Amino acid sequence: MGKQSDKELQGKLRSYAKRYKEMKNQMHEIGFICPGSLVQRRMTCGNPKCPCSHDPEKRHGPYYQLSWKEKGRSVSRFLSPEEATLFREWVENRRKLTAIIDKMYDISQQVRDCMLPAKATQKRQPVRTKRTQKSGKPSQNAR
Ligand SMILES: [Zn+2]
Repeated sequence: MGKQSDKELQGKLRSYAKRYKEMKNQMHEIGFICPGSLVQRRMTCGNPKCPCSHDPEKRHGPYYQLSWKEKGRSVSRFLSPEEATLFREWVENRRKLTAIIDKMYDISQQVRDCMLPAKATQKRQPVRTKRTQKSGKPSQNAR
């Protein structure tokens, strides 16, 4: 019986390894990554005579702003539409990469859970009996 579950385990591990490899291949295709976020905003110019000052529809823009954290501080830059297209992709790349890494963690944890319980039940049984003896009653003091 032990050998059969070993075979099952090997089969499982192979399929996890396959999925893991797929994730690594996907990672391979990812270009530059950019932390932070890219927002599009329309702004007022500060001139009280400009229609933008009273009509949100007449605000200027859109302007593209890329923001990220640097040494705990928030940093942001305005981008041209061309830069915005480029950095939007970098931000998207980061999201994809994070999703891939999350899946790799997921698969790895499933592999760990596949491997550890089998060993744990083998080794824990004697430990458990010792524990119940210890926590049982002050028989230890009597010795
Ligand atoms: Zn204005």
